[in-house]
Amino acid sequence: MSSVPKWREVQRSNFTSLCSLLDFLNLEKSLFVQCKHFPLNLPYRLATKMHKGTLSDPILRQFVPLKEEQATEEGYLSDPVGDKTFRHCPRLLHKYQGRALLLTTSSCAMHCRYCFRQHFPYAKAKAWEEEIAYLQKETSIKEVILSGGDPLSLSDANLQHLLTQLALVPHLSLLRIHTRFPIGIPERITKDLLKLLKETRLQVIFVIHINHPHELDNDIFDALKSVQKEGIPTLCQSVLLKGVNDCDKILTALCWQLVTNGIIPYYLHQLDQVKGASHFHVDIDHGRQLIAKMRKQLPGYAMPQFVQEIPGSAHKTPL
Ligand code: SF4
Repeated sequence: MSSVPKWREVQRSNFTSLCSLLDFLNLEKSLFVQCKHFPLNLPYRLATKMHKGTLSDPILRQFVPLKEEQATEEGYLSDPVGDKTFRHCPRLLHKYQGRALLLTTSSCAMHCRYCFRQHFPYAKAKAWEEEIAYLQKETSIKEVILSGGDPLSLSDANLQHLLTQLALVPHLSLLRIHTRFPIGIPERITKDLLKLLKETRLQVIFVIHINHPHELDNDIFDALKSVQKEGIPTLCQSVLLKGVNDCDKILTALCWQLVTNGIIPYYLHQLDQVKGASHFHVDIDHGRQLIAKMRKQLPGYAMPQFVQEIPGSAHKTPL
């Protein structure tokens, strides 16, 4: 019997060859680029949701490297949110009071072309000694955020090992998991994963990441409902992206679909100005107008906060 979990097998069917994907989508290769530092990585499920032959498809624009990535725009940086300044251990960022972020892995279920950590020099290590020692020492930290990359890229055994060590830090209460995995590979939400999330003494909070309603389907909602059944609140963050979701109707439809499936819209992020992503920029004023229009159509609890990360600020800045 194979010991490879089904979700890993699904992950192995990701499109990683640009030529194969463009053949699949009937698209002209000259409009795209091979990107060595952050190559194509796309779950098959998301590829099947793209309209073939359509360059303006909102899923395609999020995941397939367009020629526009080669533009060099002033103000677009390799570390736009100043992560390196707050790196207190190789795999720990301590930016805000009361919470710290663990860079659990550099691996993701998919590569989002606007990712602000696409140039980040991840540290390779197996043990968590340094990071756990830091958390033990910093008694003001009450919440740990598992991020990356995508923490659900880790095997259950590695996650379990990490969760066990975190639960032994007495002043920690909350464990937030930032993940986009279920959107590309909902098979990752297995009974074994749910069991280990249920067994930790820490209150787990799931924060998923979705930008357009086309990314969603019932398998994804079923997977996320099984998370919620374990008493784990599920929130969603989105990034405002030109040509993807810079339209009040799209954002309203997304928020509506989320709340009707028990997922609370949390943040709408202004794009972090990372090198290679300038073609996704939307003016802040336009973002504010979108928010004003959404407010007229949605109940208050379905409204995400429009925010920007300003390096050095004590928190995300509401716009
Ligand atoms: S899933 Fe998250 S960490 Fe991974 S590439 Fe996308 S935005 Fe970046």
